[in-house]
Amino acid sequence: MRIPIIAGNWKLNKTSREALVLVEELKREVVDVGGVDIVVCPPFTALETVSDAITETNIMLGAQNVYWADNGAFTGEISAPMLKDLGVQYVIIGHSERRQFFGETNETVNKRLRAALKHGLTPIVCVGENLSEREANQTFEVIRNHCQGSLAGLSAVELGGMVLAYEPVWAIGTGKTAAPAQAQEVHAFIRGLLKKMFGEAAAQETRIQYGGSVTPENIAALIGEADIDGALVGGASLKVPSFAAIIKAAKK
Ligand code: PEP
Repeated sequence: MRIPIIAGNWKLNKTSREALVLVEELKREVVDVGGVDIVVCPPFTALETVSDAITETNIMLGAQNVYWADNGAFTGEISAPMLKDLGVQYVIIGHSERRQFFGETNETVNKRLRAALKHGLTPIVCVGENLSEREANQTFEVIRNHCQGSLAGLSAVELGGMVLAYEPVWAIGTGKTAAPAQAQEVHAFIRGLLKKMFGEAAAQETRIQYGGSVTPENIAALIGEADIDGALVGGASLKVPSFAAIIKAAKK
């Protein structure tokens, strides 16, 4: 059975002091919650503070990106060993904002996720079509391209421990959520693709989150779908009442 996973992507928000306030409140709200993996992904500058604050709690730490080299002359980059050192367990890779604004490609996603896996970080690999691609009926083609390119050369064992996030770009930060059945259709397609690429066992083991304007109001219907194993949450993860409500509703 796949344990649902709810991850909060704080993006470019929260100083480390603000992050501490947020996570302290979250800790109190979710202290008794079991059966759901809870992850927060603050900006790099708040990772250490949040890491210290969540020691021995049911909240895990994620980063929002990772570079593929371990060290060297790569000004401004952060490596997997650096993240591990701070207690990071998960890392978001290939978020659509990185694909859109920072030149991320399937190839760089693949390099980042290999580095993450090599150092024992669990990648959360994002895939998803934009509005014009959906309107041109290219959704499945885009998803196939993102999955095949991003996951190229991985073994079934490596895939099985990973998380994928289906995030239709038109639903991110827009208030427009994919209808549960519409999201399920793509999740089932992704799982089918994973089966072809890595075999049944790895495909069944891989958790596939939905992301795109998830709220306390729509999470139950989304998580009720067979192949939706959690959510990657942006805006609603910045407020404890909404994020905690999403977490509590995510138990299958
Ligand atoms: C995201 O950034 O991954 C996301 C899903 O954002 P939001 O929940 O705000 O749409």
